[in-house]
Amino acid sequence: MKTADRMRLLPPYLFAELDRLKTEARARGVDVVDLGVGDPEQPTPAAVVDRLCREAGDPANHRYPAYEGSALFRRTVAGYYQRRFGVRLDHDREVLAVIGSKEGISHLIWAFVDPGDVVLVPDPAYPVYRSQTLLAGGRPVLMPLEAGRGFFPDFGALRREDLERARIMFLNYPNNPTAAVATREQLAEAVAFARRHDILLCHDAAYVEMTYDGVVAPSVLEVPGAAEVALEFYSLSKPFNMTGWRIGAAVGNTVAVEALGRIKNNTDSGQFTAVQHAAVEALGGDWAESFIREMNAIYRRRRDLVVSHLSELGWEFQVPRGTFYVWAKPPGDRGSAEFASELLERTGVLVPPGTAYGPAGEGYVRIALCIDDRRLEEGLGRLKEGQQGF
Ligand SMILES: *Cc1c(COP(=O)(O)O)cnc(C)c1O
Repeated sequence: MKTADRMRLLPPYLFAELDRLKTEARARGVDVVDLGVGDPEQPTPAAVVDRLCREAGDPANHRYPAYEGSALFRRTVAGYYQRRFGVRLDHDREVLAVIGSKEGISHLIWAFVDPGDVVLVPDPAYPVYRSQTLLAGGRPVLMPLEAGRGFFPDFGALRREDLERARIMFLNYPNNPTAAVATREQLAEAVAFARRHDILLCHDAAYVEMTYDGVVAPSVLEVPGAAEVALEFYSLSKPFNMTGWRIGAAVGNTVAVEALGRIKNNTDSGQFTAVQHAAVEALGGDWAESFIREMNAIYRRRRDLVVSHLSELGWEFQVPRGTFYVWAKPPGDRGSAEFASELLERTGVLVPPGTAYGPAGEGYVRIALCIDDRRLEEGLGRLKEGQQGF
């Protein structure tokens, strides 16, 4: 059976490849400590689960959902943006429910990119920006994120020919995988650049609630006039331990909200209304702030543990102030892929090589903090033993 030619454009999905390595090691009897998975291991808050159970019993929720999201969900998202960022959103024209931001990001590309069009993609980055651009026949142009520039792209290095064909620029702060947090001034620079070149600025704010050491991450929509050129994806996945629930929102630019909604209307029929209303419990709940603070305290404790071990072992890194990742360079001049597979082989510790997120990730690996403290300590201990033999 022949699949479409475009299937060849898809690299093996990073995590599928890691899963394969992990399965092989486990089959050899290795007790693998997986420091690769960016998926909270803590449960979803009980209030959200209870609300889902109640909503699931309501026959009003059993029919097709409103494809743009329920009015209650969209109003609650708007209320959250007002409280958290001081941003006013019209819930009818500037807010759309998505089935997780991955779905929204993927379909946004189909709404804006014709064959041959350019999409500006950070390097390293969440792999979806690049893979969906390729599927849509677009051309990803990589914007290297360098440590010396705080992992923020150098817009001045982009070529005029690429900018003329650029339709979307993706940014993601707090950033996966580098853990960098952008300031409002940096986001303002991106908004001005997008406006000058008539590009849709798509800001992926999946980690906007996950920061440490007193840092508060901004929404791109805090920049005055940003909604004229910017769309932001907010997701409940990471802050509320809800990756399995598949719920988030696209907010901002009305042309993008309308276009994405039209693609969705022709593709999916939206998320189960009961799930949207369970999300309302989290986004509107007075317990949410303290819940997020508690989760962040857990991640910060693990971050400190990782950072102190890595310093001792001579790794190079910037102390993360956001996300639940540590982006770090092991000593020596092995390539990341070689380092990662050798590490797995010798110690049973799995870390994704930086190159899995783009060529600029060479030399780095990404350590995720979504693993309980005891296993994390086990992994770090083995790292130390393993490194002595390297
Ligand atoms: C985890 C993650 C998401 C979340 O995707 P959902 O589909 O909302 O679960 C989006 N962007 C980045 C960069 C992520 O790491």
